[in-house]
Amino acid sequence: MGTLREAVVVVTGASRGLGAAIAEEMGHAGAKVVVNYSRSKEPAEELVERISGDGGEAISVQGDVSDPEQAQALIDQTIEKFGRVDVLVNNAGINIDRTLRKLTVEDWDKVIQVDLNSAFYTVHAALPHMMEAGGGKIINMSSFVGEAGNIGQANYSAAKAGMLGFTKTAAKELARYGITVNAICPGFIETDMVAAIPEDAKNKLLQSVPLGRFGQPNEIARAVRYLVEDGDYITGQALDINGGVYIRT
Ligand code: NAP
Repeated sequence: MGTLREAVVVVTGASRGLGAAIAEEMGHAGAKVVVNYSRSKEPAEELVERISGDGGEAISVQGDVSDPEQAQALIDQTIEKFGRVDVLVNNAGINIDRTLRKLTVEDWDKVIQVDLNSAFYTVHAALPHMMEAGGGKIINMSSFVGEAGNIGQANYSAAKAGMLGFTKTAAKELARYGITVNAICPGFIETDMVAAIPEDAKNKLLQSVPLGRFGQPNEIARAVRYLVEDGDYITGQALDINGGVYIRT
């Protein structure tokens, strides 16, 4: 792709955290950004204003991407406004952490639905437009937990591991249409998701990170930008950005 200037980028779950940092980075690079959110209307609208103030163009679109119809509506509204979708970042995610003994069927289903099934729904909706345009870039937010597993996160790790399988298969199937598909596996990054961890548990986690600190959202956002601008020959890969907390063997 070479440049994000004028590219249309959809970021799911972009009202806060990593999604917001990614949307901001894309806007800064000159993209037209679709800021999807589920409940956080105000932060999403503030982000749109920040992007516009920075000389970019953005809209916010409410939609629960774990619902196939709302995921379709997100892409439909993108096409209505901007006429195309060049980049899709499947970032929306939640966690409901309990050990298997306590995990309910509802906890399982909810996390799989938001963290995994949503990516299929948005890709399913965006695919015809990317194919018609002759290419596109899809980036799926996984996690090092999808690679390593983690106590209390059976639902989350299954969803994030599923995201990696989905990414590899989609990469193989869609290469012929000029569409690349990659995943990012962050470690602990300082967002609301990590802020929710109790302080003593956080200190313990910090000791497990060889680089001795949590990551910053913009360190993930920069990687997304790299994959979009310089990643034409990268597909089917999982990019670990984790301070060394998980090192593949
Ligand atoms: P976060 O701060 O909790 O933000 C989550 C975002 O997802 C919010 O914007 C939220 O919007 C949105 N969202 C949740 N459910 C949604 C739905 N059904 N439809 C649309 N949007 C929805 O989380 P984060 O830390 O930025 O994490 C972003 C992604 O990175 C997630 O997939 C997460 O699993 C992954 N990740 C994070 C870390 C980390 O350390 N932070 C590490 C590895 C992977 P509303 O507020 O509007 O609901």
